[in-house]
Amino acid sequence: MKNFPNAFRDLVESLAQFPGIGKRSAERIAFYILKMKPDEITHFVRRMEEVHNHIKPCVQCNNFSSEEICAICANPRREKDVVCVVEEPKDIIAIEKTSQYNGLYYVLLGAVSPLEGINGEDLPLQKLLRRCERKEIREVIISTDPDTDGELTAQYLVERLSQYNVKIYRIAIGIPLGTKIEYIDSVTLGKALQEKRSLL
Ligand SMILES: [Zn+2]
Repeated sequence: MKNFPNAFRDLVESLAQFPGIGKRSAERIAFYILKMKPDEITHFVRRMEEVHNHIKPCVQCNNFSSEEICAICANPRREKDVVCVVEEPKDIIAIEKTSQYNGLYYVLLGAVSPLEGINGEDLPLQKLLRRCERKEIREVIISTDPDTDGELTAQYLVERLSQYNVKIYRIAIGIPLGTKIEYIDSVTLGKALQEKRSLL
């Protein structure tokens, strides 16, 4: 790489900062960019700017939206009194793909993280709490990640929400289908046992 021009190395460095892109992939993308036509480059840059300038958090749920209220919150066919709390907008995409959920969402834009110095009070919960206060919400499903930060966040949410008359659920942390019990890590298996369901 040291024989390549600085501009190319800078581009690789920038690309390598994207999530999931290692140095090798960054180099491949940079070579691809080098071969793109000028109008393709202009088009691509414009798209990035558009995303940056026109997509804002939904005023109700913090999901990405080009309107003041996102498409999910604005959809009259969604159950308005059920709210699934997630850490990031990308989690909404994953849950929507299941087609198993028809309520609304609330995005925390992060999680409690002692390592990063993020406390529960730092999470933007006000809009959710206000709706609980106004008795607009019947059920909250906490769908934060099943890791340490996600669990701490879930605990904090339970603390804050328990003063309202809402049912609070945590998504079941399941055993992946098609796997064998002996291969499941003990944390997942422990959680699955805690959250066992009755069959009769
Ligand atoms: Zn929304």
